[in-house]
Amino acid sequence: MKRHPFIMAVCSDFAGQVRGKGFPAEDLADRLAKGVGWTPTNVMINCFGAIPATPFGPRGDLILLPDPAAELKVDFEDGGVPEHFFIGDILDMARAPWSCCTRSYLKQAVERLSAEFGLRLRVAFEHEFFHGGVAERPGGAYGLDAIRRAGDFPHALIAAMKAAGLEPETVLPEYGPCQIEATMRPALALQAADRAVMLRQVTQALAFRQGSWVSFSPVVTPGIVGNGVHVHFSLEDEAGKPLSHDGDAPDGISDIASRFIAGILDLGPALCGLTAPSVLSYERLKPNSWSTNLTNLGWRDREAFVRICPVSDVPGEDVSRGFNFEYRAADGAASPYLVLGALIRAGLAGLEADEPAPPATLDGPDVLSAEEWALRGIRPLPSSLSEALEALEAAGEALIENSEMRIAYLMHKRGEIAAVDGLDLAALAARYARVY
Ligand code: GLU
Ligand code: MG
Repeated sequence: MKRHPFIMAVCSDFAGQVRGKGFPAEDLADRLAKGVGWTPTNVMINCFGAIPATPFGPRGDLILLPDPAAELKVDFEDGGVPEHFFIGDILDMARAPWSCCTRSYLKQAVERLSAEFGLRLRVAFEHEFFHGGVAERPGGAYGLDAIRRAGDFPHALIAAMKAAGLEPETVLPEYGPCQIEATMRPALALQAADRAVMLRQVTQALAFRQGSWVSFSPVVTPGIVGNGVHVHFSLEDEAGKPLSHDGDAPDGISDIASRFIAGILDLGPALCGLTAPSVLSYERLKPNSWSTNLTNLGWRDREAFVRICPVSDVPGEDVSRGFNFEYRAADGAASPYLVLGALIRAGLAGLEADEPAPPATLDGPDVLSAEEWALRGIRPLPSSLSEALEALEAAGEALIENSEMRIAYLMHKRGEIAAVDGLDLAALAARYARVY
């Protein structure tokens, strides 16, 4: 068969789906300059492919402009065509960032963090996913025999990640049946979000080529364990000097990081509307699920909303580079741009409020009194997407300052809730498994 080199220009949208338009490869220079045409209502296509409502109707024109810094080209060397795409920004016809462009939403937060506080966020994403290509290995949690049964999937995944410049760190058999986790080295926020989009795509591409399937849906095996997207982050100055740690401060957290974290804790329930944005996400955010269900800051606690997770306690060692935090309430239904854009906005609100974070929970919140919960500002996370959207709406401009985006996002997500109304858990999990 005769084949012609083909490239896609794509975006990651409100549904966390990657959509775009393609062109013959020889037009790349022209497309990098002029982009491809895009339509406002595309952002209202929900994860199931429907448009229950749209504030934009059939009107309007936009440009999806591929970013040369966000190119993925991977030849899987399986005889198939290479995977080749550029992630782009959505611009209006005057070439200003469009109100509902998720990547611009993150870029604006990154710019504010730098302009207002001279700070950068360094981020590493950890992705968990279900690998449907193999039979479950009973008792296989973290097992050598479980990953063996995935055949050459880990090998091919690492090869593809390396070819895409994603700097793979670990690929491991996770706790759940057929569950795998892949992690990448830290990068600055925008690049980390680009890489999170790319990681999900190369994983999907690989599974498709191998005739199997994967799912980053928050819950594929109800009642056992969910798939999280954990966001490790730390603050640094513009020269890359780590700023999160202060050995003399409470919990070892520097003043600036403490204020940043305080903002995230304070806006926790509203953040969930953007970072845990599917109806199924709240099946994962339950007690005793190794995810999180309260707004607490926890010392090395894998059920904390924000976990303090320094990588070393070796006396005399400089621990500042490895002094990180982990946000645990995100999942694969969320666009990584919305996740980081929202986290940075919450952190900025905390920096502006100038209040330190409450003390960390050391033995988990269960052992603390009601007074200690109040002192630490510990509240339950939303138990449904509709509760999370109410919190997001109540937070007003704090997380989405642009009212056009706020209205469109809430409309999109409320349409998604209506679309799955009445489904039981098994049907809900099956529905989401196939779209993430
Ligand atoms: N699968 C858990 C989640 O849903 C996380 C397990 C872990 O700590 O890696 O977040
Ligand atoms: Mg894990």
